[in-house]
Amino acid sequence: MKARISILMVLIAAAVILGFIIFATTEPPTEAPIMGENQETDSGLKLTDQETAAVNADIEKGLLVLVNKELPVTKDYVPPDLTPIIHFAKDRTPEGRFMRSEAATAFDAMCEAAMASGYEIVSTTAYRSFDFQASLYSYYVNSEGQEWADANIAKPGTSEHQTGLAADCASASVAYELVAEFGDTAEGIWLRDHAHNYGFIIRYPMDMQDITGFTYEPWHIRYVGIATAVIIYNNNLTLEEFLEDKFRD
Ligand code: ZN
Repeated sequence: MKARISILMVLIAAAVILGFIIFATTEPPTEAPIMGENQETDSGLKLTDQETAAVNADIEKGLLVLVNKELPVTKDYVPPDLTPIIHFAKDRTPEGRFMRSEAATAFDAMCEAAMASGYEIVSTTAYRSFDFQASLYSYYVNSEGQEWADANIAKPGTSEHQTGLAADCASASVAYELVAEFGDTAEGIWLRDHAHNYGFIIRYPMDMQDITGFTYEPWHIRYVGIATAVIIYNNNLTLEEFLEDKFRD
């Protein structure tokens, strides 16, 4: 009898520990706080009631999660509803072809609109798992050195690609490379001027490294929903400024 109770206790303890591990490692990224009525931000931005309601609806859907060098995601966080995107570069690993469902639909609609205007934009990588980012990071540490890798490649857990809400974009005009010149191409300019209409922002604008923690990346877009994307675009903000959670080095 005593032995049976001991076994039972061990099993209960194991279940509790396992439950804790599962809970702890699948913790989602940092959620944005719900905005109050007539809330004014640090930058003096004042949203209308309609804008506040639309932004809050997207916060509740988890679309405004903030991931940066100070707010990492846990190793095992996998976003829900990952869906393949259509407009994806031919020679890239299919593993990176996914985005969260709403973002994937918006991404393809955006690429089709670009195409209708004569610009071909595709993603070279969208979702990246923690392990994918880890191998990418160590590849660049080995090939380019630690300093270069730290300045240019997000450490595993700090890449917003792990949220399934980010995509890197490229075009034939830059040979599908992720380079700053993309921002000066017709495709890059179209993306900068139209992405917000589809719920995307240029996540790492020029000269905003002190706030975002990343240098200029005209190719990296982030889905935040149309309401927030339009506000960020019209007011020239970064996501950190909009969420009033500034990155500090
Ligand atoms: Zn990126």
